[in-house]
Amino acid sequence: MSDGNSTVSSQENLAADLQVVRDYLDRAAEPDALSPDQMAGIRIELKGVMQEKNARLVAHYYTDPALQEFAEATGGFVGDSLEMARFGRETDADILIVAGVRFMGESAKILSPDKMVLMPTLEATCSLDIACPIETFAPFCDAHPEHTVVVYANTSAAVKARADWVVTSSIAVDVVEHLMEQGKKVLWAPDKHLGAYIQKTTGADMLLWDAACIVHEEFKARGLQDMKAVYPEAAILAHPESPAAVLELADVIGSTTQIIKAAQSIPNRQIIVATDQGIFHKLQQLAPDKEFIVAPTAGSDATCRSCASCPWMGMNSLQAMLLSLQEGSNEVVVDARLAEQAMVPLQRMLDFAAQNQLKVRGKA
Ligand code: SF4
Repeated sequence: MSDGNSTVSSQENLAADLQVVRDYLDRAAEPDALSPDQMAGIRIELKGVMQEKNARLVAHYYTDPALQEFAEATGGFVGDSLEMARFGRETDADILIVAGVRFMGESAKILSPDKMVLMPTLEATCSLDIACPIETFAPFCDAHPEHTVVVYANTSAAVKARADWVVTSSIAVDVVEHLMEQGKKVLWAPDKHLGAYIQKTTGADMLLWDAACIVHEEFKARGLQDMKAVYPEAAILAHPESPAAVLELADVIGSTTQIIKAAQSIPNRQIIVATDQGIFHKLQQLAPDKEFIVAPTAGSDATCRSCASCPWMGMNSLQAMLLSLQEGSNEVVVDARLAEQAMVPLQRMLDFAAQNQLKVRGKA
């Protein structure tokens, strides 16, 4: 980013928001400690309210396994952000409950404007979203009119509305390759590691915004090398939001869905995984004979609350979901005009995904 002031402001926002997360999690610790009987009671009550209101739960792979299991048991869905958006649009439910982070709720609302979209909490956000405010992003785009603006799904509705394309990690490389073939230069935001990975993979002419995921940035190459020495037969699967030095050690680099597919097809029995450990629930479910190991993180620095576990994803719970559904609280609202503008680049991504067979990258 050329404007140093906007970087400082983003970092200040991030620090402030991390404090909010820590405070929230400290408060949330007690209500979460429910007995199995109490949890069973909440599940029964939730099922009843969901049937009565024709509501469906859409959960991300990084959320608590209890939410993922509940989504699947009640006709809902568990997936990555692209799949969540698709399911939300196609389901005949009147109410979508999105267990994930705020941009996922916003995307669901943009794609399904006639459905009510609720979230267990509206406080759950994302470091990438925070670090890319529209107030600094729009002037940055205006200053580079010769670039096609491609933004990651982890952004606000306003940032999406300013973009030419919205992409998820499962489709980002393919879209940029497609743009490069048309001779276009790309302005990419907000994740710098994913941007650098796309740039390296495609060779595209790209301008990168400066932000990172607080979870994936914690994975460390040196620790990973040490771990590989302990498990020499293990394959390494990494999400492209991880730093370049970590990706260089990976056998497969891909989105959450691509990591899950690779874990099933790769012959290695032991697999080291560099992404949020919420994914281990689905990995173990689909590949029960394999041993999954969390890739090492920084361990003791200031954001350690996020070591391989997203604090914002952790804010979602069945209790909060029940309350939201009973009271109709935590509704996701997106300005209609903004939603219409954001729908254009989102639809472009969905059309591209429907027309193209996406590839998985890596050495394996
Ligand atoms: S894991 Fe990272 S990218 Fe995903 S929601 Fe959390 S902070 Fe954002």
